[in-house]
Amino acid sequence: MLDAADTDDHIGIETVRGFTRSLLLNVSYEPMKIINWQKAVILWFQGKVEIIEYHDVYIRSVRMSFQLPSVMRLKTYVRPRSQTHVRFCRENVYIRDNFTCQYCGKSHPNRQLTLDHVVPASLNGPKSWTNVVTACRNCNQKKANRTPQSAKMPLMKEPRMPNWLPSAEFELALGKVPNTWLQYFPVKAG
Ligand SMILES: [Zn+2]
Repeated sequence: MLDAADTDDHIGIETVRGFTRSLLLNVSYEPMKIINWQKAVILWFQGKVEIIEYHDVYIRSVRMSFQLPSVMRLKTYVRPRSQTHVRFCRENVYIRDNFTCQYCGKSHPNRQLTLDHVVPASLNGPKSWTNVVTACRNCNQKKANRTPQSAKMPLMKEPRMPNWLPSAEFELALGKVPNTWLQYFPVKAG
């Protein structure tokens, strides 16, 4: 029986290379947390999840071969923990906005994204969930120190605090998560 404390050595599995963690979704497809492959395998054997996407990575031992799941979905609803503590930070704003510029609506790689104050800091706009959005560099420069109204650059949607709770692991993994995960971080009206 696999146990969360087991290591590769204990269960005789070759060293697993590459990105192996799984995104765990609630039954409602909302992201719950990021889990390591050992935990993913346990949940699978316990029959608690269905596998939605796979990594191109297998674990093999003498007696088993298992394609590691990239995205898993719980079979029963689990009430998320408190939803009032989504940390405000650059990465979480990008996730909330689905890595999409909130002015031109295009998605961009991380490095081409910036944070934009909707009401500029120079006009006392706060650095908060409701006043900071993801913007591409072009739109950010074009908008400059103006409000969306005066720049005639309306927002795609009103920015709010998201209602999911990203895990610390997810923040760490940002920038190298599989593309297959991004669709599960849609714009959410909070
Ligand atoms: Zn843009």
